[in-house]
Amino acid sequence: MKCSYCEKESIIFIRRTGKHYCEDHFNQFLLGRVKKYLGKHRIKNKRIMVAVSGGKDSTVMLHVLWQLSEKYNLEIIPFYLDLGIKEYSKPCGKSVREISEMLDLDLIEVSLLDFAGFTIDDVAKKEKKPCRVCGVVKRYIMNRIAFENNFDFVATGHTMIDEAAFAIHNLYSGNIDQFFRTYEITRTEKKRKLVGRIKPLYYLMETETLTYALINRISYCDLECPYAEGHPIQKQKEILLEGEYKFPGFIYNILRSLNKIRKKVPLESSVQVRFCKICGYPTTGDVCNFCKVKMKYSKR
Ligand SMILES: [Zn+2]
Ligand SMILES: [Zn+2]
Repeated sequence: MKCSYCEKESIIFIRRTGKHYCEDHFNQFLLGRVKKYLGKHRIKNKRIMVAVSGGKDSTVMLHVLWQLSEKYNLEIIPFYLDLGIKEYSKPCGKSVREISEMLDLDLIEVSLLDFAGFTIDDVAKKEKKPCRVCGVVKRYIMNRIAFENNFDFVATGHTMIDEAAFAIHNLYSGNIDQFFRTYEITRTEKKRKLVGRIKPLYYLMETETLTYALINRISYCDLECPYAEGHPIQKQKEILLEGEYKFPGFIYNILRSLNKIRKKVPLESSVQVRFCKICGYPTTGDVCNFCKVKMKYSKR
C-alpha cells in the first residue's frame, strides 16, 4: 500500500483519519498533533519540566518536545522520580538517563526514598494496591520540584486513551469532582504554589506513540509497573479500544463531548486556598495528602 501523501510505501494506516502514512508523513502527522495541542493552549516561550517514567509514551513525549523546542522556544528539562519498585524502577531510570544523555538534556532525578523516607514497595507491603499512594506522591513531588525550580509547566505523557479511560472511570465510579478537575491543561497559580500541567500527547493514541518510537529508533523501558495489572483503568481502555475498532474516532469524539460537558459547568473557584501545616503546600484540609502518607510510611 502507498502513502496517501507521496509515492513511498505506507507503514501505518490510521483508521480515524482514513489515511496511509510513510515514515516521513507519519512523523509529520504525529508532530502535527502535538503542535495542535501547543498552539491551542498557546504554549510558547516556556520552561517545561517533562516528567519521564522511562516508558514508551513519556519517552516519546520528551523526544517530540525536544524536536519542537526551538520552534516554540521551550526550555525542556526531563524529570525522573525513582519510586523504588523492585525490578521496574532501575531499568526505567536507566532508560531515562540514556535518552536525556542522547538529547543532551540535563536531568532532574529524585528518589522517593531520599525525599520521603519510603518506597512504593514499602507501601505495597501494607496495602494491597499502592496505586493511590503512588498517585499522591507523584503529583506532590512533581509539583513541588517544578515550583521550587520555577518551571512554567509540568508535562506528562498521557495520551488520548489514558484521558478517556480516566474520565470514563471517574464517571463510572461516581468521582464527579475528579471528573471535573481533569482537563487537557491546568493553569499555573503561583500564589497557590501550583504549577500547571500539560499533556502534549492529548491528541494521540498509544499505537501512534509506539510507531513513532519504532521508526525513530527511540529506546524505552518496556516493563509494565507490576502493580498496574488488573487496575480498572486497564479494563476501561479495553472497552474504549473495542469502541474505536467499531467506530473509528470513537475515543476522540467521547473525549470532545466530555470536554463540552466540563465547559458548561462553572469551576468552583470558591474553594478556599489553604496550605498544609507541615509542608506549606496547597491542601483542602489542615495537612496535605502527601504529609499524611509520609507520616504513615516513612521509616525515618
Ligand atoms: Zn508519504
Ligand atoms: Zn504537606
